[in-house]
Amino acid sequence: MYDCIVVGGGLIGMMTARQLTLEGQSVLVLDQGQLGAESSWAGGGILSPLYPWRYPQAVSELAAYSHQHYPALAQALEAESGIDPQWTQSGLLILDVEEKQQAHAWAKQFGWKLDDIEQASELLALEPNLGKQADQALWMPEVAQVRNPRLVKSLKASLQHHQVEFAEQEAVSGIDIEQGRVVGVNTQHRKISAAKVVITAGAWSASLLQQAGIRVNVEPVRGQMLVFKAVPELVKHTILHQGHYLIPRRDGRVLMGSTLEYVGFNKAITEAAREELIACAQALVPALAQYEVEKHWSGLRPGSPTGVPFIGSSPATEGLYFNCGHFRNGVILGLASVDLLVDLMLGRIPAIDPAAYAVGESPLPGVMKKT
Ligand SMILES: Cc1cc2nc3c(=O)[nH]c(=O)nc-3n(C[C@H](O)[C@H](O)[C@H](O)COP(=O)(O)OP(=O)(O)OC[C@H]3O[C@@H](n4cnc5c(N)ncnc54)[C@H](O)[C@@H]3O)c2cc1C
Repeated sequence: MYDCIVVGGGLIGMMTARQLTLEGQSVLVLDQGQLGAESSWAGGGILSPLYPWRYPQAVSELAAYSHQHYPALAQALEAESGIDPQWTQSGLLILDVEEKQQAHAWAKQFGWKLDDIEQASELLALEPNLGKQADQALWMPEVAQVRNPRLVKSLKASLQHHQVEFAEQEAVSGIDIEQGRVVGVNTQHRKISAAKVVITAGAWSASLLQQAGIRVNVEPVRGQMLVFKAVPELVKHTILHQGHYLIPRRDGRVLMGSTLEYVGFNKAITEAAREELIACAQALVPALAQYEVEKHWSGLRPGSPTGVPFIGSSPATEGLYFNCGHFRNGVILGLASVDLLVDLMLGRIPAIDPAAYAVGESPLPGVMKKT
């Protein structure tokens, strides 16, 4: 009998298991595939929403909290695992901005540094290899990034370091509920008992929760990305233009992302997306034409209607918790959402007000009440 079973070992599930273990709980993580091999591996790792002022306040609050705590998490993970997630403050340069006033008001409210760049020369001083896309920009120097494959590897190794039990290739087929409370889960092979169950199954969360009468509006949204094997300093900062972005890694590789496709649980990559991403990358930084595309991949984001994740407990089933639907921002929002959920699970007063993320009595945007 475990204190808690975590269903889904993406970055949200692994961070949850790590936190609960540090609090003295016995935890088992179950994943239908390999830990950290889905969206959490596929993402770009920008530690800010894109055009963050366009999101609801509930997203900005999680982002601000995570922004503050990420450097310490990255350090702790490296110490525990020997793997550096490469937290790097490479800044975010936003080239197409029509809502300057809104952006500045948002930055002031949530404590982010945001500067106007009003001359092409200033822009080129920051990013010398930029093609001509803009004469003006917004610059957020504090925005950092992590390298997703390294983040998930370090999380998995940290779980091993803390002797957290996990099982891979073991899908949870059902949540075991008796007399209004959770007693464990069922997998293809066995029945496992636990006092609490947390659903962190990313894009797959809705069908699991539906079995317990909870309907969260989470659906897979495919994102394709590719990486150029470039050289350090060719691209210096994360650059955003018309929804597409370049992310420079420490070793000189440059990621280009991403598509936003509602095609169900289909992870295929397409030639059309490859061409679109290469064209966008070369328009932003023409010198990228000289470098080979090393890899092209896709991942299934856990899409939610407004980008606000669902975090909390079942109103009807004692011991059942969820943390899902982080959509395009699970890497940045994940840390805060996990701290919030763990506080709720342990009966502590959370640092962030949980009301906006709950599947509750009052109709919230994107949340369908139990039917
Ligand atoms: C192309 C792309 C770019 C992105 N860029 C960024 C970015 O720059 N910044 C940012 O913050 N976010 C970004 N994201 C979003 C971010 O990656 C996700 O929001 C985040 O990874 C979601 O984490 P998760 O743990 O909820 O889901 P996942 O990583 O998908 O993990 C869910 C896990 O649950 C398991 N599972 C599912 N069903 C079951 C079951 N029945 N039993 C057991 N296990 C199960 C799956 O196997 C999987 O391992 C990006 C995503 C993509 C695809």
